[in-house]
Amino acid sequence: MVISHPSKLTFQIENWSYRNTSQAIVIGGSIAGLLAARVLSNYFERVLILERDRFSANPQPRQGIPQSYHPHVLLIQGQQILEQFFPGLTVQLAEQGALTVDWSADFRWHLGAGWAPRFPSDLMSTACTRNLLEATIRQRLVADPCVEILEAHQVQGLLADASYSQVTGVRVQNAQKQSIELRAQLVVDASGRGSKATKWLSQLGYDAPEEATVKSFLGYSTCWYESLSDEVLNCKMLYLMPKPPYQSRGAVMQKTEQGRWLVNLIGVGKDYPPTDHAGFLDFAQSMHDPIVYESIRDARPLSSIYGYQRTENRCRHYERLDRRPDNFIITGDAVCAFNPVYGQGMTTAARGAIALEQSLRQVQNPQLNLKGFAKRFQKKLAQVNTLPWMMATSDDFRWPDTEGKQPNLTTRLIQNYLVEVQREVPNNKFVFKKLAEVIHLINSPTSLLHPQIIGRILYQKLNLLNKVDFN
Ligand SMILES: Cc1cc2nc3c(=O)[nH]c(=O)nc-3n(C[C@H](O)[C@H](O)[C@H](O)COP(=O)(O)OP(=O)(O)OC[C@H]3O[C@@H](n4cnc5c(N)ncnc54)[C@H](O)[C@@H]3O)c2cc1C
Repeated sequence: MVISHPSKLTFQIENWSYRNTSQAIVIGGSIAGLLAARVLSNYFERVLILERDRFSANPQPRQGIPQSYHPHVLLIQGQQILEQFFPGLTVQLAEQGALTVDWSADFRWHLGAGWAPRFPSDLMSTACTRNLLEATIRQRLVADPCVEILEAHQVQGLLADASYSQVTGVRVQNAQKQSIELRAQLVVDASGRGSKATKWLSQLGYDAPEEATVKSFLGYSTCWYESLSDEVLNCKMLYLMPKPPYQSRGAVMQKTEQGRWLVNLIGVGKDYPPTDHAGFLDFAQSMHDPIVYESIRDARPLSSIYGYQRTENRCRHYERLDRRPDNFIITGDAVCAFNPVYGQGMTTAARGAIALEQSLRQVQNPQLNLKGFAKRFQKKLAQVNTLPWMMATSDDFRWPDTEGKQPNLTTRLIQNYLVEVQREVPNNKFVFKKLAEVIHLINSPTSLLHPQIIGRILYQKLNLLNKVDFN
């Protein structure tokens, strides 16, 4: 499959003159960067994305995105936002082989207490490799005449005015190691988990933001398969959940374009899955349900096995900085990166793009005056990130070896309640649907306080009490 790019990927540096036009620069051409650029294209005459990698014509993993070898779930809210920014994207992805997943009919989900019920519903999103998703968004974006991409250029630092109160551009290095200065009215850092924004700000005399990390020491190992038996799997997506506190092993299996399967083994608490084929099979065989092993034991692997262990939740609190320069904002994983097992990263990046759109809409004339905008945006983004952060970290704290600041009492109570809800899922379609809506970020967690759900939980508790012999 070849995704053609207009020749606009060959950007002409000498034509980049910010004195005549309003210009914005985005650092990083992945999901958060592409979506930020989509928003900025509504407000600036030219938007330039700077990316250290080169993009290939075929959607395939690339060096700057080590996670591109691993399955990527697109939550329903993420899908809805992408469709809002790029109308028709869902159909376009389907035309390139992406699958539609009905999250109650096509998804097999083992929650420790048993398999979730399966039934048709309206809980739909697209399933494909993140490589196809990213390439398709990029193709749509560069069709916009005001968006340009400069590949193989690595940003090395920020440029500022004489007082260091405003960022005025970036310093980039090209493949020949030459340094170039590019100016813009607004610079957006979307360079991911490894962002150097903290260092760049300190070079301008600003403090580093407070940082929170929650680490459950979860590891991924992923192998790609040409095809797997539909008879054994009978689904498009499978999640065999590890079960806290002790059943540390699980798996995610995702069917993608061309019928290929990405099989991802998970181990929590440093029980990292191996990256050799024999070890991979042994690990699959050791799980609490045989389905993963049975589906891959005779299958032909298409790839080597890719490991990934940098899975801690990490949040940099830029919104709490007392001092910051204007005209520089940070978004996506560069601000808040999650344990990937919850599948929230791309959707949170999309929520961040909505926050950017809403923040820019409130500025009178963003091309001329962005004073105070950076602070307002980072505060709005922090609000957007709160819910996914709470959901990911509180679940991680169910593991005994998780490191990080313990959640407060309210979060712990919510978490305990969610565990009770999960216990009910195998027996009840209604509970399953309600929980899925919350996980997919299309309904508030308070919707789980539905009388029917509370009633079920109380009924089970009373049943248990009745079985206790008090003598
Ligand atoms: C193993 C794994 C599995 C995941 N699974 C899911 C999932 O199932 N669902 C989901 O929604 N999310 C998932 N995520 C998260 C998801 O990949 C990210 O949240 C999403 O890609 C958004 O990240 P981003 O665009 O902010 O950063 P990234 O995707 O990390 O992209 C950063 C970009 O910036 C470029 N860059 C970096 N530094 C520079 C520089 N100095 N100059 C120029 N360019 C630079 C990089 O090359 C890269 O292109 C997963 C993550 C991991 C690690």
